[in-house]
Amino acid sequence: MPKGIKGFQKGNKIRLGTTQSEKSNRNRSKTLKGNTHGFQIGQPSVFKGKKRENLRGKNHWNWKNGSSAEAKVFKSRIEYKLWRESVFARDNWTCQKCGKRGGIEIHPHHIRNFAECLELRTSIENGITFCKKCHDLFHKKYGKKNNTREQLEKFLQQNNQ
Ligand SMILES: [Zn+2]
Ligand SMILES: [Zn+2]
Repeated sequence: MPKGIKGFQKGNKIRLGTTQSEKSNRNRSKTLKGNTHGFQIGQPSVFKGKKRENLRGKNHWNWKNGSSAEAKVFKSRIEYKLWRESVFARDNWTCQKCGKRGGIEIHPHHIRNFAECLELRTSIENGITFCKKCHDLFHKKYGKKNNTREQLEKFLQQNNQ
């Protein structure tokens, strides 16, 4: 009994296997023929897809290159603008040297040197409002490098001279 069952099962499996592979082979050749035909028809769409990809790639490349540099500049501009406006607002748009307000060109001055104190660029504590005239005067006296709070305090003490 077990032998007979085994034989029957084996035979069944083999028969099923051959018929399935034969069928799938025929189907494969059919689908291949269908594919070549379909590919020719579908070619324009493939071409369109490539075109789109190229455009996307170019756009992406430009966008990526532009953004990393421009975003930094944009961010620092925004930060600088905010810093500047905050300093002006705190000082009530008044020159801290001569006390003039309105009808003057006001400048934000970095108390500690701008280039050397990167982390202080956007610190309101590191900013002071000067009119153009006083700002020019400060930098004529103390130069534009290595500016310190001590220089500023001296400069302000000479107020109303
Ligand atoms: Zn300055
Ligand atoms: Zn002034």
